[in-house]
Amino acid sequence: MSILVWIELNDGRVVTNCWELLAKAKELAFELETTSAALLIGDEVDEAARMALTYGADTVYAAADATLSRFRLQPYAALAEQAVERAGARAFLTNGSIRGGTLAATVACRQKAGIAANASDLRVEEGELVAVRTIYSGNIRAELRFESRLAVASVRPRSFPMPEPVGSSGAIEMLDAVLDEDEIREKVTDFRAAEVGEIGLTDAHIIVSGGRGVAADPPKGFELVGELAETLGAALGASRAAVDAGYIPYKHQVGQTGKTVGPDLYIACGISGAIQHLAGMGNSKIIVAINKDRDAPIFERAKYGIVDDLFEAVPALTAAFRKRLA
Ligand SMILES: Cc1cc2nc3c(=O)[nH]c(=O)nc-3n(C[C@H](O)[C@H](O)[C@H](O)COP(=O)(O)OP(=O)(O)OC[C@H]3O[C@@H](n4cnc5c(N)ncnc54)[C@H](O)[C@@H]3O)c2cc1C
Repeated sequence: MSILVWIELNDGRVVTNCWELLAKAKELAFELETTSAALLIGDEVDEAARMALTYGADTVYAAADATLSRFRLQPYAALAEQAVERAGARAFLTNGSIRGGTLAATVACRQKAGIAANASDLRVEEGELVAVRTIYSGNIRAELRFESRLAVASVRPRSFPMPEPVGSSGAIEMLDAVLDEDEIREKVTDFRAAEVGEIGLTDAHIIVSGGRGVAADPPKGFELVGELAETLGAALGASRAAVDAGYIPYKHQVGQTGKTVGPDLYIACGISGAIQHLAGMGNSKIIVAINKDRDAPIFERAKYGIVDDLFEAVPALTAAFRKRLA
């Protein structure tokens, strides 16, 4: 019996949210009087497997093969099932990324297990695992209990604090790559990385987002929002209104039909705080809103609010942060 966590690799590097999830798994395992385990799949996994031991895995199940260099559902799901069996897993947890969500859903279907998709919290109650997820654009908090032998959950990135690595006496067990290249139906024909230096929204500790409030001069507005983001080492986000108006590409969209994020700090510039936007960023630890309308709904969720024109307030903040961080 164990709580098994898939450690997602992106271009050979661990997606750091997975360490947060692994540390949580360790905590749950302790309460359930069982063990924690990690699953690593890739072409080169030695270093990541050793790190998994320091982040709380009692056992690491690892598969290393050239066929596994990039995520493909067919071989990854087969290996995940092999690890679930070997670990006698009571729960299988993945990062709530597109890959993690797909893998969790596939394993749940094949194992006839209950699944909590995009959960925002996990806890133990009366010896049972409980998953929490928000539904209806964040209006309802649902608590899910599992009736199946195996519980599966994909978990929103950055739902738990980042742990410190510690020493470990765990073991690494190698899994057999179960499929040959000829048997794998999915083929990766091309791979394009995001622009160099660009910070991914889902991984970001700080996000600065712009909305329709930049409409008076969109290029200038997003230039100012971008400068603030760059100064803070933050990712650049946007509301759907800004994306739909063509001010910024879709990959920056936060919200119900964009990315779900959970940074330590979210600075919303000229964003009203529609429920569909809040659905994607309401889990942010601290929200700062800059809006010239003091009645904008975003102020109800913000810890700090600046009632001002963003064309004035954003460059002033950037200048202040530059001075402070210099
Ligand atoms: C099915 C569905 C899915 C959706 N999915 C998403 C989603 O994923 N993400 C998302 O964001 N939205 C989504 N929406 C759209 C959502 O309902 C809102 O329309 C959108 O979030 C509004 O974006 P906004 O806050 O930038 O614009 P607005 O609501 O127009 O707000 C602009 C704000 O800027 C302020 N402002 C104007 N000028 C300035 C200035 N110079 N300085 C400071 N403040 C200023 C205004 O006071 C206002 O509060 C979805 C809608 C639907 C129906």
